[in-house]
Amino acid sequence: MKRLSSANSAPDGGVAATGPVVAAATADAGSEINLRGIFASAPLGIFQSTLQKPVIVNPAMARMFGYDSPADMVASLSESIGLYASPAQRGMIIEEALKSETYVKREVQYRRKDGSLFLAQLYLRAARGGAETGVSLEGFVEDITERRQLEEEFRHAQKIEAIGQLAGGIAHDFNNILAATLLQLSLLLDDKRLTAGTRGTIKEVEAETLRAVNLTRQLLLFSRRQMARAEPLDVIVLIRELLKMLRRLLGENIQINFAEPAAAVWLNADAGMLEQVVTNLCINARDAMPHGGQLAISVTAAEFTADNLQGHPEARPGRFARLQVQDTGCGMAPPVLQRLFEPFFTTKEIGKGTGLGLATIYGIVKQHEGWIEVASTVGVGSTFQVYLPVMAGPLTVRPGGPEAEAARGGPETILLVEDDFSLRRTATLCLRKLGYAVLEAADGVAALALWRKHRDRIDLLFTDMVMPQAMTGLDLTKRLRTERPALKVIISSGYTTEQADLISPGSGITFLAKPYQHGHMAKLVRQCLDQKPQKTSPRLAERKP
Ligand code: ADP
Ligand code: MG
Repeated sequence: MKRLSSANSAPDGGVAATGPVVAAATADAGSEINLRGIFASAPLGIFQSTLQKPVIVNPAMARMFGYDSPADMVASLSESIGLYASPAQRGMIIEEALKSETYVKREVQYRRKDGSLFLAQLYLRAARGGAETGVSLEGFVEDITERRQLEEEFRHAQKIEAIGQLAGGIAHDFNNILAATLLQLSLLLDDKRLTAGTRGTIKEVEAETLRAVNLTRQLLLFSRRQMARAEPLDVIVLIRELLKMLRRLLGENIQINFAEPAAAVWLNADAGMLEQVVTNLCINARDAMPHGGQLAISVTAAEFTADNLQGHPEARPGRFARLQVQDTGCGMAPPVLQRLFEPFFTTKEIGKGTGLGLATIYGIVKQHEGWIEVASTVGVGSTFQVYLPVMAGPLTVRPGGPEAEAARGGPETILLVEDDFSLRRTATLCLRKLGYAVLEAADGVAALALWRKHRDRIDLLFTDMVMPQAMTGLDLTKRLRTERPALKVIISSGYTTEQADLISPGSGITFLAKPYQHGHMAKLVRQCLDQKPQKTSPRLAERKP
């Protein structure tokens, strides 16, 4: 034990206490006992060995290598070479340690008693004054398997993020190409001279193109650049329909109770994403109740004012729908509650949990400008509450599908701003065919120039969101609206950007998701032009960064 106290250079890591120990050890015999205590309780493996085998090991070391006790480890080993996955590495490290004045720090793959391997950090040095006891090496060992796994997970997450960015970038360009293709196809289909056969073929090409649109949508969803396709929906109907499927998924020993309110609850939300929120919450509840239990779902109204925000740290004044999912499952302890929404955080065994369920919910709810509250008691159950802003009433404007009725045109003038050349050309063609006058600009600067020349003629600004020249569609809108606050605006994008979130229902801006079809675009343009001018000057939603 003496030799331990002679350690005068603390290796980095958790053994920096060596310094003070030296002073204490020379003071009196009581500190010898202290030292033994440290040796016995240290979370690191500590050992002394000859060049052949360990002489003294502490309990942590024996545990790490799968032996019953330090004595078991010392007695079982005739040679320490068996502890190394690579004997060659052992030779090299010992050679280095003998040459070095201080600790040599290496990552080593060790072998446990049962033959399994683990990764450790080894600090090894040649023992000073060990000649009389035969000890020539001493060291510290830390099992770093878990740390390495976390690093792996982190690297994996970064890789996913990078792939997401790449996929998102490609999908964005692809979206423009598909938009142009769809518009060209609808122009073709408008041609009255087509034979039925040709028309059928073009319809098929259109159907294939729509499949590509779907693929792009999935890519964008994966890369989290998918714009939520917000549409007015009654969340009660959504849950009622979804439960038909969920009942089967959750199994028979879970009782589901959905407390439906009498009136519809309208949200401006993406139906697919909301379904995912409810589904993930229900699946988590099921996993928490392996022997069955009760699952209660309810939707209630929640109104917050400046006076009743206490207890709801993320709330803000306004009217919200409170979607509650409550289970009688195992519940969660505070450490789990704290990390719940972290991507890849799971307490489930490998293959069962991904740790992405709640992270996804979190992202979706944020994108819908809502928040989540969680309460849980171990052994009693958990309650998740999702708050989402409600709409005053169902919107009259519903996005029409490809089958939307033939669109009307008009004599108005549209300022069309789009940086993608072929999409701009095609959209212009379509709009001109409907009778509109179109002024084309490739970016915000060109649009401003056209505005200065023709501002009195322009009835509608139809602009892309993401454009070169550092001026987005929203920036352009703000500029033009300083001169004409009631200017009608359509912004199109296939991309989520922070700015796209700024398009709020009250801003008087219509959003058109890319890629769009001829009929849908034409209808939206007409609706927008037909809207009565707003009485109060429309305001763009300002959001905290
Ligand atoms: P996963 O379900 O893949 O583990 P989630 O992000 O959905 O990932 O959940 C993360 C963790 O949160 C779960 O592993 C579990 O420990 C805990 N959890 C989530 N929902 C519940 C619940 N209703 N009851 C108890 N624990 C839950
Ligand atoms: Mg889950």
